[in-house]
Amino acid sequence: MTVPLTPPSRSSDEHYAEILRWQARYRMLFASLIGFGTITLKWFGVVSAESVLMARYGLRGVLLAMLGLVVAYVVGHRVLVAVLMRRGHAPMGVVVGAIASDTVILFGSALLITPPEHFDRALLLSIFTVQFTQIFFGWTATIANLILIGAGYTTLVAVAADASMIATPAEELWTLALYGIGVLLYVALQGHVAARMRRLVEIFQRAQDGDFSARYEEEPDQMPDPVSVIGRAYNQMRERLQAIVLTDPLSGCYNRRGLNQLAEREVSRAIRQKKELAVLAIDLDHFKRINDDYGHLTGDEVIREVGALLRTTAREADIVARFGGEEFTILAPDSNEEGALILADRVMQAFRNYRFRSLPPDIRITASIGLAADWARDDDVSKTLLARADEALYVAKRNGRDQAVVWHAGMRAFDGTPPKVRSSVVGMLRIND
Ligand code: GH3
Ligand code: MG
Ligand code: MG
Repeated sequence: MTVPLTPPSRSSDEHYAEILRWQARYRMLFASLIGFGTITLKWFGVVSAESVLMARYGLRGVLLAMLGLVVAYVVGHRVLVAVLMRRGHAPMGVVVGAIASDTVILFGSALLITPPEHFDRALLLSIFTVQFTQIFFGWTATIANLILIGAGYTTLVAVAADASMIATPAEELWTLALYGIGVLLYVALQGHVAARMRRLVEIFQRAQDGDFSARYEEEPDQMPDPVSVIGRAYNQMRERLQAIVLTDPLSGCYNRRGLNQLAEREVSRAIRQKKELAVLAIDLDHFKRINDDYGHLTGDEVIREVGALLRTTAREADIVARFGGEEFTILAPDSNEEGALILADRVMQAFRNYRFRSLPPDIRITASIGLAADWARDDDVSKTLLARADEALYVAKRNGRDQAVVWHAGMRAFDGTPPKVRSSVVGMLRIND
């Protein structure tokens, strides 16, 4: 049995039909237990006091009626399941119908079997049905359920009073009123807990997809119960998890998932504000030689330093990412071609001036940069810009490295079209060479 914790994302009619289908089994079991339990207790004389209807129809009549009631309930629910299997939809009317059948079996059996001084036993059992209704069908069905219970109990009292088997009917109605208040408070509290649980489930599901943007709201939540404790613990873990899932551990820059997630946000902002976006594709020049000359571990150290260098060189709003290898990407929001070129120049300059702690002091590393900028017209702009920047990067490499090349329409990275070249120095060089 799967108990859905999250509210339906499909139509609620379909969701209700599914719940009614799996609940039918338990409903029939519940009704059979009530029916046959009471019949057995009565048959063996465990419950000996006289019920309202027994006074009128005798033991045999009452037991037969009880049997009929249970059989009608079971057959009714079998038919309902068959119909739901075919139609797959259950509007709220059908839900209330099913709840009404529970009320009939509960209060019908009380009328048949239970002596009037113990009518509140039916109320006790109905708490269970109200709770289930609230969890699976929400407030409309819960209110309907409470009204049906009120009508059922009032009918019991009225019939018993009519047969002069109840001395103080008003007292019974007072019992009903207290029951109503108690149950309402109980399901309201439970509904509140369930709503907060659903919010937690939603936050965790988003986290599962790598989206840590949602926080558990602690402010409106005054109750320091386990739900709050989990929520608070999640908030504390959130930042650490975010760092683990969205960043590249070697360079400390965003990884592909991180860039995609942030790019999505930046692109929708740029579309809304009608802004341009720029992407820089950066590849270190002749990096293989660093590995060959100084070893892979030193190469890793250099990548770590490059990550930090790029982050300090870029603006606060720029997103610096590394997808692996020695290639980096910068997504620069609110930047046109000109702005992106200024950033690219700053990056190349930073490389030329930087002394790597992990390399001999006279070794410099240079970078080649391909860049592309465009207006954000649709959601695919970041993908397009990434592809264009890569194409321009290829041209920058082909043209001698340590330079930035701007992508332009008609650029063919692989057929020798002359690119817009900005500057040209050597790739990796020894200062005193
Ligand atoms: P180019 O100027 O054409 O870019 O030359 P390159 O040697 O940098 O060539 P390319 O970019 O094609 O190759 C990247 C090299 O960088 C290959 C590999 O030796 C090295 N590399 C890639 N990822 C890592 C890494 O995570 N750690 C280390 N240490 N080296 C890496
Ligand atoms: Mg390279
Ligand atoms: Mg490379």
